[in-house]
Formats: sequence, C-alpha cells, structure tokens
Amino acid sequence: MSATRDRLLAWIDGERAAMVEFLQAFVRCRTPNPPGDTRAAVALISAFLDRHRLPYRTIAPNPEMPNVVGSFEGGKPGRHLVLNGHIDVFPVANDGDGWSRDPWGGEIVDGVLYGRGVADMKCGTTASIMTYMLLHRIKDELGGKLTLTAVSDEETFGPWGARYLMEHHPEVHGDCCLNGEPSGLETVRFGERGPLWVEFSVRTPGTHGAYTHASKSASKIALALAAELEELTRLESRLGDNIQTAIDDGRAAMDRAMGAGAGDLVSRVTLNIGTIHGGAKVNMVPSHCTFEADFRMPCGMTKADLLPRIEAIAARHPEVTMRVTGYTDPTWCDPHHEMMGIIQKTVQSLDRPAPTPILSLGGTDARLWRAIGVPAYVYGPSPNSMGSVDETVAIEDFLHVVRTHVRAAHAYLTRS
Ligand SMILES: [Zn+2]
Repeated sequence: MSATRDRLLAWIDGERAAMVEFLQAFVRCRTPNPPGDTRAAVALISAFLDRHRLPYRTIAPNPEMPNVVGSFEGGKPGRHLVLNGHIDVFPVANDGDGWSRDPWGGEIVDGVLYGRGVADMKCGTTASIMTYMLLHRIKDELGGKLTLTAVSDEETFGPWGARYLMEHHPEVHGDCCLNGEPSGLETVRFGERGPLWVEFSVRTPGTHGAYTHASKSASKIALALAAELEELTRLESRLGDNIQTAIDDGRAAMDRAMGAGAGDLVSRVTLNIGTIHGGAKVNMVPSHCTFEADFRMPCGMTKADLLPRIEAIAARHPEVTMRVTGYTDPTWCDPHHEMMGIIQKTVQSLDRPAPTPILSLGGTDARLWRAIGVPAYVYGPSPNSMGSVDETVAIEDFLHVVRTHVRAAHAYLTRS
C-alpha cells in the first residue's frame, strides 16, 4: 500500500511542471462571474481530460456555464467519493487597478502564482482534476467509485452549476465529498454559516430640503434601520456538545487562518450593509432609499429563526418594505468523520502539522452535499488574498494541496 502512495507522490513530483502549466493556463481563461461564461476554461479542462483518455461528459443546462462531470469505477466494490470544485471566479474590479501583475496573466514571480481566482478556487479545482487523472491510472487497485465535478455558476449561488447537478443528477451525490476551496493549509472546514440577503426599501413623500417639517427623510429612516439591525449581531447559536466542542476548539485556528476576530464570529449572526442608494439631490428630502443587507446565520440557526426578528425591527418603521433576495441555511457535517482523520494524517505525512477542523465564515458548494446528508470537507490554499487585488497561491502550497487530495482520495478508496 505504501508503495502505491509513494508512486503517487513520485508522479506528482515528476509531472509538477505540467501541473503548474495547467494551473497557469486555467488562470488565463477569464471566467469572472458575473457574467459567468466559463466555456474557455471548460475547453481547457476537456482537452486535458481527452489527452489523458479520461471519461467525462459536459452537462450544460445553461450553454455559457457548462459543468464537467467524470466518473470511473475501481476494481472492486466500495464507497463513492466525489471531488468538487468551481471554475468561475470573482470579477476584477476597476480594470485591475491596484494589481501589481496582470490579473489574467498567470504570472509566477518568486514562486508565487498571481491571478484572479487562483486561490478561489482554480488551485483547488486543479487539485481535483489531477486527483481524478492520477487515481485513474491505478483504478484497478481502488475500491468503489471516483467522480469529478468541475462546475460553473458558484460565485453568485447560481442555479446552473452544482445546484443543478445535485437536483438533476443524483449520480454525483456519492458517500463523501472533497473540495479544495481556500481553507488555509492549517484547517479543514466541515461546515459553513448560511447567508440571508434582504433588500429594504423606504418610501416617504419627500420634499424641498429646507422643509424638513413637511416629510420624513427616506435616507434617515434607512440609516436608523441599518443601525437597529445591528442588534441582531448579538444573537448566538450553539450546537450539540460534540460539534460545539470542535467549533470552540477551532476558534484560535480560525484567527490564525483568517485574521484576529474570525473565531469570535463563527457562532454569531453577522451583518454587512452591502449597498445603499437613496435621494436625488443634496437639497431635497429623499422620497426613497434602498439598501441590501447580507446577514450570515451561524450553524444551528435557520431563516425561520432569524427572519421574524428582522421583520419585527423593520416594522418599527411603517415606511419600510422588505424582501428576501437569497438565502441558504447553514450546513455542517461530522468533525470526527473518517475523512477528517484521513486528511489530518495525510497532511502530517507530508511533514506539516495536522490541520484543525473549523467552520467556514463564507459559503461554498460543499453545503449542497451536506444538505442532503453527504459529509463534505474543504481543504485548500490560504484564503487571505481571495477576492482582493494580487490574489496569489504559492506554487509549493498548490503542490501540497494536490498531494493531499490525491493521497486522501486514495486512502478513502482503499479502505473498506
Ligand atoms: Zn469559491
């Protein structure tokens, strides 16, 4: 068995240049979402899979947002592992202003690869593709089944990617899911909070700016309401002992991975006012103001818990109407599952400290597997640069993520 594991690592070492070139080419395929057109990147992935004679098909309910799904059986019966990663990335703001390198150039400088989406999550999706490619070479030695899902339409919780596959293609559900979204090499994510997005609209008659006695101001009401909603960030949720202990034990690791204060937020509601628009002119009392709030619900809380509290605060202002524009409930799975142990041991065998189980503050497609009871774990590169200028992944970190996914998938498919 260990001879096979060594052979897998030797293949990764021997083919590292080709793997790095693939990641560079992947970054150069522009896949910002919006608009979410991923066809160029899907062509790259398809060409790679064709070159290695690997089975796959594309499933494209939206022709501009295809998904790549591949699957093969091992030599004996066993469990079904699903590899999941997304192809679309955040857009580049202001034409790349502030970047020190071309955000779509895939340049490597001092051992670090620059590019929009390299951390979130072309590094992790490449790890999934390489895992699929290398394990196919030894498929007769494996038990069970391995499935690759490289999907579009993730960044906006869209309907055409993983959500479509989960609803229409139960063959991608599997027994366990491994995902390479950015987690930081020191942590493995076993759950995530859930977003609840609400748009608030304030309407008043409005009037001349000097006649403040004649109409309430829609923007002043909006500002007051936004401040009152902050009350909700005092709400906390706690889960059963077993899971809560893992969450509490992970707080220090969350601070290290995401910055001081991150661990403190994990069991709380957070509120971001993402947009605010109101008024027409400085010397008019505004007749309308609209703002969008992004609440994040901790594990153990649902929309049914939080929404009535939001409605009660909004109801203090009769001029306000509100509507929910998106939500997903928080998801989590067993922090002591076999796959968690496999990832931790694998990372240790690669001479790094065992990663700590934590919850994610943001959202990933892994939630879709957890939501139907399939445990799903996230292990990928540092999240620190994702979505910002100069998004980067160190080449050595990329190769470490590839090694971890390959060995963890191999371990899972060779145990019974
Ligand atoms: Zn992502």
